[in-house]
Amino acid sequence: MKVKSDKANGKSGIYIHIPFCRQKCLYCDFCSFPVASAESIASYVSALVDEIERNAEKYRRRAVDTVYFGGGTPTLLTPKQFEAILTSLGGVFDISHDSEITVECNPATANEQYFAELRSLGINRVSIGVQSANQNELSALGRIHSFGDAVKTVEDAKKAGFSNVSADIMFGIPEQTEESFLFTLESICKLDIPHISAYGLKIESGTPFAKNHKSLVLPDEDSEYNMYETAVKLLSQHGIERYEISNFAKKGYASRHNLKYWQYYDYIGFGVSAHSFVDGIRYSNSRDIKAYVNGLDIRDSFERIDNRAAENEYVMLGMRLSDGIDTTLFEKRFGESFNSKFGPALSPFVKSGHVIFENGICRFSNTGFYVSNYILSSILDM
Ligand code: SF4
Repeated sequence: MKVKSDKANGKSGIYIHIPFCRQKCLYCDFCSFPVASAESIASYVSALVDEIERNAEKYRRRAVDTVYFGGGTPTLLTPKQFEAILTSLGGVFDISHDSEITVECNPATANEQYFAELRSLGINRVSIGVQSANQNELSALGRIHSFGDAVKTVEDAKKAGFSNVSADIMFGIPEQTEESFLFTLESICKLDIPHISAYGLKIESGTPFAKNHKSLVLPDEDSEYNMYETAVKLLSQHGIERYEISNFAKKGYASRHNLKYWQYYDYIGFGVSAHSFVDGIRYSNSRDIKAYVNGLDIRDSFERIDNRAAENEYVMLGMRLSDGIDTTLFEKRFGESFNSKFGPALSPFVKSGHVIFENGICRFSNTGFYVSNYILSSILDM
């Protein structure tokens, strides 16, 4: 059976990858390069516009309601460069007037004037990489900004009129303690922003952290567990509720773009390393920036997702959400009953209180979130 097109369920999202940073952080395995010159950014932006326009026929007038500039550090681009990319997207896609348009930003790479120019282009959401309020932790991560820089960047974004501001913070950082993480959480709450992402540090192979793993003083598993639990409780006290395992928002501020990934909607990526999922087909570009800038086709994977894999992915992603999975929507999308497919395997976890299954919704309980990987690997037919 063919996976039903996303078009029946919602509009697509667009992801634009900007692979430049001022300096590479010690834990980072994202596709990002220390930027060499303004010319190299200009050549990349021109290659991006070419890629969007090369795909004009394929995507002509496809309905879109989120655009996300991720990186890297997208705020190393000039407002004019954002304008060129948005104009090119507008020439190909049918972008709703009320779209969510997000730009990721690192502290000390944008000021009030810069943010005001982004606002005037229709960009309406900023996601800032704060990571920690403690200087020793920022230094341990190889971040080149201070917490003071992050505070100023948040304030500048707000002064320029951004109300939809998000901050990324991390737990499991070298030298971090439960107390120091609490300080980060309290400091972030004082910034009075409506969205926080809290990620646990992962040591990724090929990074300086992986090479020096043994010498890193990392918090143990129990401390990490406590840090996450503190985040869930403290943010909730500030009206910022968990809506996805690592994401917390005030009512009405969940990331519409990221919800597309978790709700299994279509998204189209442009730029090096960008991934796409369109009409049941997943494909991605390689990290070869030289080839990309030279206009070569850098597509390096292409996979048609069959129905069985799609059902499993849908459950794996949907269960990350606090709202879980609406079994009626599952049935509408796949033409198969969620209960008959997953009910028997889920039954012991419902009995143990880790999964809640009521009124057509299947979701993790608070305790279930902590063992979600184990439960999903037990129930999915991979
Ligand atoms: S700022 Fe982000 S993308 Fe850039 S090197 Fe650091 S972690 Fe990687």
